[in-house]
This record gives sequence, C-alpha cells and structure tokens, in this order.
Amino acid sequence: MASIRTGGCLCGRVRYECAGEPVFSLRCHCRDCQRQSGSGYIAAARMPAAGFRITAGEPRRYVAKSDAGNEIIRVFCGDCGSPLYIQVATRPDLIGLRVTSLDDPSWFRPDADIFTRSAQPWDHMDPAIPKFPTYPPGQAYPTAAPSSRDGPPGQAGDR
Ligand SMILES: [Zn+2]
Ligand SMILES: [Zn+2]
Repeated sequence: MASIRTGGCLCGRVRYECAGEPVFSLRCHCRDCQRQSGSGYIAAARMPAAGFRITAGEPRRYVAKSDAGNEIIRVFCGDCGSPLYIQVATRPDLIGLRVTSLDDPSWFRPDADIFTRSAQPWDHMDPAIPKFPTYPPGQAYPTAAPSSRDGPPGQAGDR
C-alpha cells in the first residue's frame, strides 16, 4: 500500500513528503551516527528516493566519506540542525530517512541493529532484534573506492 508520510525539522522551516515503503529499517550504532545525532544510535529507514521531496525550506548538506570510501551526503536543517536524511553516492535511488524527523515515527519497526561493534555499553538494545557488527549480509552499500577496503577497519558506517 502506497502511503505518503510527512516530516520536517525541529524549527519547522524544512518540510518533506515521503512516499513508498521502507526497503530496510535499522538502528545504526556507528560512531558517525552517534556524533551526528548526539545519541547512542540513529533510527533510519531506507526509502525509495523517487518518492521523497522537500516541500518547504532548503536543507543544508554535509558531504563526507564513510570508511568504505563512499561519499555520504547528510542532509539537515541549517537553522535548527535537525538531521533529516542521508544519501549514499553509490545508491542514489535510496535515501536513509531519519525516522524521528517524521511527524509520526511510531510505525517504525527495525529489522536489525547494525554496527553494534561500536554500540555504547550504556545503550540497552532489544534482544529480539537481530544484531550485526557492521552490515547484515546483502545490506552494505556498493563501494565506490575498492582500494580503501585494505585500510584498517574503522567504526563509521554508511547506514
Ligand atoms: Zn529547522
Ligand atoms: Zn551509522
């Protein structure tokens, strides 16, 4: 069933609509997500990018590379700082929606806890949800720069 969900940032200047259903719902415990969110993990849903559009305001973008070498675009409100979504350069067909930016995030059901290798010891996780040190099989993003795989394992994911 197609549904359109709405959401936006804390101050309300940036608003969006998101159509379609999640292809993967997750809680990411990587250090990048912890730093960006100011919390122990982020709750995200990979949604079809084709169904997503900004309806008000102009969010800002912060572009940085993951440990896998992929460019990650983090989109947020430049006024209040609320994270809205991310997009990985190698999968432009998806967005990683920060589900807590939705007007109603209550429908969210995580498929997995990911990057649990960097989860905080004070972050109690639901034992019923499958856990993965990095990505579950088949859920990693395609890598743009294969040579960087030879580097030391880091703690930052792409979600
Ligand atoms: Zn805002
Ligand atoms: Zn993460």
